[in-house]
Amino acid sequence: MKMNLSVTEKKIYKRQIMLFGEKGQKNLKKSTVFIVGAGGLGSAAAFYLAGGGVGRIIIVDSDKVELSNLNRQILHGFRRVGKNKALSAQTTLRALNGNIKIESVTERITAANIDKYAGKADLLLDCLDNFETRFVLNEYAFKNKKPLIFGAIFGYFGQIAFIRPGKSFCLACLFEGSPAKGVFPVVGATPGVIGSLQAMEAIKYLSGAGSNLNSELLTWNGLKQEFRKVKFKRNSHCKVCRKEKK
Ligand SMILES: [Zn+2]
Repeated sequence: MKMNLSVTEKKIYKRQIMLFGEKGQKNLKKSTVFIVGAGGLGSAAAFYLAGGGVGRIIIVDSDKVELSNLNRQILHGFRRVGKNKALSAQTTLRALNGNIKIESVTERITAANIDKYAGKADLLLDCLDNFETRFVLNEYAFKNKKPLIFGAIFGYFGQIAFIRPGKSFCLACLFEGSPAKGVFPVVGATPGVIGSLQAMEAIKYLSGAGSNLNSELLTWNGLKQEFRKVKFKRNSHCKVCRKEKK
């Protein structure tokens, strides 16, 4: 891919170039982001990363769109009910920005297949709702030293962290086991808030602007409109990220 910006691209990204220059925009253009989950979090994150000009987006989801997704999963719509979410996401994102590459993965991510899809990614986004796949992504990030932006939601609440392999805690330090599975309540705007924060962390990291969350968990309480940052240390017994492997 040519890394110079076309006249059209300079127009599309004008307001961003005002912030981080053509250099920052070119950095976005040459980046690949791997988004796991095309649900509520993935919808918000993928929209802003595609609109913002990340050169290659790989979006993963093995589920099909259901009516009960539509309050928050804004990549899809009534006419996509029954279709695979990654393919639906690809269609929507291509319509939003034809200047970037969008790829879809309809398989469930496992330890065996993840490298095939995420091998070229500069950055991983955890937009999942299940912990089994989260832990696969977490281990992969640490083994391959790829940064991982974690997001999670429940009801009116959300949390986000920027995980740096070798430097910060990992998801296995934060969560010892998987919470019970099941249908959880959620207001549509909740993943909108947290997915947008994930996109913001990604755009800063890739363009070189500002700084990212550092060994912190940012939590958001939508009922009270409160944000909090909590510092976390690595769990010295963590099976995934502890330095001295036995
Ligand atoms: Zn850990």
